[in-house]
Amino acid sequence: MKEVEKTEFIKWFSNLDKNSGNIAGGKGANLAEIYNLKIPVPAGFVVTAQAYNYFIEKAELKEKIKELLDRIDYEDTKQLDEISRQLRAFIVDSKFPEKLKEEILEAYEHLDADKFNISKGSALDILKTSSEPVFVAVRSSATTEDLAEASFAGQQDSFVNIKGEMNLLEHIKKCFASLFTSRAIYYRNKKGFEHEKSSLAVVIQKMINSDKSGVIFSKDPSYQKEGVLIEAVFGLGEGIVSGKITPDKYIISKELKILDKSVSNKKIAITRNSSGEKEVVRLSEEKANSQVLKEHEIIRLTELTINIEEHYQKPQDIEFAIEGEEIYIVQTRPITTLEKRIKSGDTKELKGEVILNGLAASPGIAFGKIRIVEEMEDLDRIKQGDILVTKMTNPDMVVSMQKSAGIVTDEGGLTSHASIVSREMGIPAVVGTGEATTLLKDGEIITVDGFTGKVYKGKVSEAVQKEIIQADVKTKTKIKLILDLPSYAMRAAKTNIKEIGLTRIEGIIAESGKHPNYFLKQNKINEYEEIIFKGISDIAKYFEEMWIRTSDIRSDEFENLEGSPKEKEANPMLGMHGIRYGIKNPEVLKAELKALKRVSKTGKKIGLLLPQVISVEEIKSVKEFIKEVEFTDVKIGIMIETPAAVQLIKELCEEGIDFISFGTNDLTQYILAVDRGNEAVQYIYDEMNQAILYQLEYVIRVCKRNKVETSICGQAGSKKEMVKFLVEKGIDSISVNADVASEIADYVKELEEELEHKE
Ligand code: PEP
Ligand code: MG
Repeated sequence: MKEVEKTEFIKWFSNLDKNSGNIAGGKGANLAEIYNLKIPVPAGFVVTAQAYNYFIEKAELKEKIKELLDRIDYEDTKQLDEISRQLRAFIVDSKFPEKLKEEILEAYEHLDADKFNISKGSALDILKTSSEPVFVAVRSSATTEDLAEASFAGQQDSFVNIKGEMNLLEHIKKCFASLFTSRAIYYRNKKGFEHEKSSLAVVIQKMINSDKSGVIFSKDPSYQKEGVLIEAVFGLGEGIVSGKITPDKYIISKELKILDKSVSNKKIAITRNSSGEKEVVRLSEEKANSQVLKEHEIIRLTELTINIEEHYQKPQDIEFAIEGEEIYIVQTRPITTLEKRIKSGDTKELKGEVILNGLAASPGIAFGKIRIVEEMEDLDRIKQGDILVTKMTNPDMVVSMQKSAGIVTDEGGLTSHASIVSREMGIPAVVGTGEATTLLKDGEIITVDGFTGKVYKGKVSEAVQKEIIQADVKTKTKIKLILDLPSYAMRAAKTNIKEIGLTRIEGIIAESGKHPNYFLKQNKINEYEEIIFKGISDIAKYFEEMWIRTSDIRSDEFENLEGSPKEKEANPMLGMHGIRYGIKNPEVLKAELKALKRVSKTGKKIGLLLPQVISVEEIKSVKEFIKEVEFTDVKIGIMIETPAAVQLIKELCEEGIDFISFGTNDLTQYILAVDRGNEAVQYIYDEMNQAILYQLEYVIRVCKRNKVETSICGQAGSKKEMVKFLVEKGIDSISVNADVASEIADYVKELEEELEHKE
C-alpha cells in the first residue's frame, strides 16, 4: 500500500502538535493540538514551511528574492509596492516542483476519504464515492512569531471555497506570495525581522457544508455565573457575526444542564450553493421559529467546550458547524479584549445582554441614556451623549443627531437616511430593529454596537469611534468621497482624498429648515441660491473637484420643512422628486445651477450630477437651463438609478454627458421592487443580485464605448464584493464614506495588482 505521508512536505493534523509551529505555523499547530484532544475538527493537512522552502529553492527564487529585497528603500512606498508586486509575481508564476505537486494533490485527493485517521493509512482503503473534488479552505499559517503577529494584522492571505486541483495549487502559491505583500515586508523591516528567515506553511482544510452553525462562549458574560452560552442559526454562521440573524441562545451549566433557552425567529439562513457562492434563503415561518440545535447536540457541544477550556485554561470563544449528524469545531481562541477585536476588524459580539437586533448601519460603539423621539418637539430633550431612539430619522433631525452618541431606529435599511447620515457623522447606529421605540424605555442606559447591529442593556463597553485615516490615493480606480454635510467636510478631508463623488445638497437645504417651495412662494429664490452657495463653498475649501447633485427632495423625507407641499404622496419613492421636480420648477433648478457656477468661479472643478433621470429629454432641458445661466465650465453627469436610465444609456451617452454615477441605493429598489426603507424586506434588498450586476456591467460597457466616465455613489460602493465586481469591470472611480475610504483604497490596490498580474 502506498503511504500518504512520505516526506516532510505534507503533514496531517494527527502527526503534528502544539510544538509544531516551525513546521506547520501557528494556525496549523493550534488545529493539530485540538485535533489531538479528540475534538472533531474538519479534516485537513498542512503544506509545511519546509515545502515552501523547497518550492523557493527549486524555482531558483532565493537569490532573486534577496536581490530585490536588498534594493528596497523603505521610505519610498511606490518602489516598495513595485518590488512587492514583482516578488509576488515571481512566486505565482513559478511552477510547483513535480514532487511537491504530486504530494499535495495526493493529499487533496484523500481529504474526502479522510475522516480522522488518514495519516495511519487506513482511509486509503475507503473507495472514493464522489467524483466531485471537495471544497477546501486554504489558509496561510505563519511560522515565526513575528509573522504570527503580522498575520494577526491580516497580512497573510487565506481563501475559502477552493475546489479543484489547479485552483488549489494556485491558491497555495497565492498564500506563499502573501509573505511578500508591501505591508508584510515593511512590517518585518520595522520590527527588525530577517526576511530570509521568514517562511510560511499553508493549512488545507475541508469546508463543512453547514446545516447549522454558531458560536460558543465558554463563559457566558451576560449570565455572570458559570455557564456556557451557545448561539446557533441554520446555515452558515456568518449571519450571527454580521448581526443579520437573531440566533437561538442556549445556556448550559458545567454539569450539562440546560439552564435557559430562547428560540428566536431566524427569518433567513445564509447557505452555500453548489458553486460555492453564498445565498440568502428565506425560511418558512415554521422552520424560522424552530429550535436549531437538538438537545443532544447542545450537550455534546458543551462537553467539547468544557474540554477545550480545560485544556487551554482560559475562557474560549469557539465556532462550530454541523453537517448532517456530524459536529465540527471550526475555530477556538481565547475570549479576546474588545480593543484587539476592533483592531483586527473582527466584529464579534460584546459581552452583555442583547435586548435588540437590527442592521449595523454605522460602525462604532456608544452608550448613553435613551431618548425616545416620537414627535419633533421631543428633539429638544436630546442632550449631548444621549442615544436617539426613533421610528425613523428624517433630515430635520440632523442637529439632534449630531448631539447624540448613538442612534437606534425601528425602521429603515442600510441605505436609509439614518444610516447614511450617521456614517457621515461617525455616530454608531443600529437601524431597522422593528421595535426600538416600543421596547426601550426613556431614560435607561443602553450600549449600541454599530459594528454588529446589536443593542445591549446597560453599559457593556467603552465608547469606540471609527477613526478616519488617510487613504492610499494612488489607485488607478479613483477613490472619491460621499459627503453631504458641510460641517463634516473637515473630518472627511482627513482621508487626504481631494475629490468628491457625491454631495446631496438636501443636507444643506434641510439645515435651513425650509423647502425650496417656500423660497419660490415668498419670491426669495436668491436666498435659496445663497444657502446652496454658502454650503457648497464650505465643502469646497477642502477639496479640488466636486460632483454636486441637484436637489432630490422626497416628500416623505422632507415633509417637516417650512413650505413643503401639503399633499401626501401615496408612493413618495416614485413621486415628485429628483430632476423631474427641477424641470417642473426651473427657478429652483436655476438657483442651484447659479450657486454652483459661483463656486466654480472660485477655481474649483464642478461636476453636475442629475438625480432620477429617466429620459434624454430631461438632459436636453437641463442643458437649456445651464446655457441660460451661462454655466460654461461644468461637466454634466447623471445618476444611473432608474431602470429607464440603464435601458437608455446608449442614447444618453450620445446626447452628450461627461460621466455617470451608479445610484445603487435606488437602482436596487427599482429593479428588485424592494423598498429600500422598509426593514421587513431588507433581507432581499441585495445590490449583488445578479439582475443588478447585469445592469451595471452593461452600462459600464456602453459608457466605455462612448468615452463616458463611470462611477458609483450608492452605498454598495463601500462593500468589498461590489468593489471587486466593479474594478474587474473597469469602473473609473468609486465613491465611499470617509470612514471606509482607506480600507476600500487598500482593497482596490490589491485588486488592481492582482488584475495587472493576470494580464
Ligand atoms: C442612490 O440612489 O444610490 C443614491 C446615491 O442616492 P440617494 O441615496 O440619495 O437616493
Ligand atoms: Mg438615489
